[in-house]
Amino acid sequence: MDLSNSYLSGIYADVCRRNPGAVEFHQAVGEVLQSLTPVIERRQDIVEAGIVDRIVEPERLIQFRVSWVDDSGRVRVNRGVRVQFNSALGPYKGGLRFHPSVNLSILKFLGFEQILKNSLTGLPLGGAKGGSDFDPKGKSEGEVMRFCQSFMIELSKHIGADTDVPAGDIGVGGREIGFLYGQYKRLTDQTTGVLTGKGVSFGGSLVRREATGYGLCYFTEEMLKSIGKDFKDKTVLVSGSGNVALYATQKAQQLGANVVAMSDSSGYIYDKKGINLDIMRQIKEVERGRIVEYARRVPSAVFTPGCKGIWTIPCDIALPCATQNEIDEESAFELIKNGCICVAEGANMPSTPEAINAFIKNGLLYGPAKAANAGGVATSGLEMSQNSIRMGWTFEEVDKRLQEIMRNIYKNSYHAAEEYGYEGNLMIGANIAGFLKVAEAMLAYGITY
Ligand code: NDP
Repeated sequence: MDLSNSYLSGIYADVCRRNPGAVEFHQAVGEVLQSLTPVIERRQDIVEAGIVDRIVEPERLIQFRVSWVDDSGRVRVNRGVRVQFNSALGPYKGGLRFHPSVNLSILKFLGFEQILKNSLTGLPLGGAKGGSDFDPKGKSEGEVMRFCQSFMIELSKHIGADTDVPAGDIGVGGREIGFLYGQYKRLTDQTTGVLTGKGVSFGGSLVRREATGYGLCYFTEEMLKSIGKDFKDKTVLVSGSGNVALYATQKAQQLGANVVAMSDSSGYIYDKKGINLDIMRQIKEVERGRIVEYARRVPSAVFTPGCKGIWTIPCDIALPCATQNEIDEESAFELIKNGCICVAEGANMPSTPEAINAFIKNGLLYGPAKAANAGGVATSGLEMSQNSIRMGWTFEEVDKRLQEIMRNIYKNSYHAAEEYGYEGNLMIGANIAGFLKVAEAMLAYGITY
């Protein structure tokens, strides 16, 4: 990481020393510190109060054993973690990820990014992330339920509607949130807004399921508008086929785009005629099947094993919605070579630093994750509000608020970039706008933690 400011490079060195081997966390912190250079040059008060030194260290990190019994009667052990990163703006808020790749580096990177993302939404939310190396794939309903119940026995001691409100992420969808919330209710005898992404019949918000994907497209629309374009008749690639990918595809199609490819961790399908979303949702949401199944059912679709090849398909707009570092420099140059004009991130940190540089240097519109995918957590914030007032808003009402929030995030990121001399660079703008709000709160509190 090349940081020209010696104060920031010192902080980065400390982060690396204190978190050895945590490469994803180093990457996320490095990107933000680089963006903060112009702020640090202007704001001596932020330097003196050690705001940046403090924001890169989690307030609290809870790690616990999760024991459960599989269908054959064998005792299984996984690790559970909650990283409560920063509560300056409100209760800790951020998803739970269940995936075999989960480790402290990934959860710290996600928790760190969540601080700035939640700040950008304009809602009173702190930043957190959590999860487990448990893999729900291939497990029976009973196994997933017993795991979630055991996970919640410990997590319930550390969360609450006004302290920490988890939600879903990779491997944690409506089913898992239902099991987790059911166990929380049973343990505490309380019906509160302690988890978001709940089913609509027990306190969930309409649009929460669609929110990250829809929000991504609303943000992308704003980016396209800035160069006099829109989604209509554009060819779009969407990686992944989970929650974010499915509803990004739905909204892009509603806005007139032709989504021609989607993927999962086994490979990607290319359907020149445009993805048939009903078939994709049946395979992914109902049957929990693999994406190759789509090509078996749709004659115009071709399946290719391996994830990376999806970025070699010519497109106008790329929406990475699977996982971190899925677009490297080589894939970025493939997109650029094939005429892509816009990359907006539905997944967290899907582009490597080299890929981001390539997008920016080649004049593509680039929408960084913490701004572009903030619609999910924003709608979680709206779910918390509805739970507090014991009311449920209509689909149209929540969707309208989501659109307003995404437009504001775009505007605030754009203006922050402009104010600090980086006009058009939404990555720098989002990092600065998100950071400044947290910094002002931390300055007001004094040196508490
Ligand atoms: P899901 O579990 O619903 O879907 C994840 C999708 O990505 C699946 O298609 C999965 O394939 C694929 N995937 C996961 N890991 C890998 C991998 N290592 N390599 C290739 N493909 C992979 O998760 P979400 O849709 O909720 O999350 C997707 C991304 O969006 C994540 O980065 C998440 O942090 C981010 N995000 C999610 C939000 C939300 O509201 N859900 C909010 C903001 C960001 P397979 O099934 O084969 O594993």
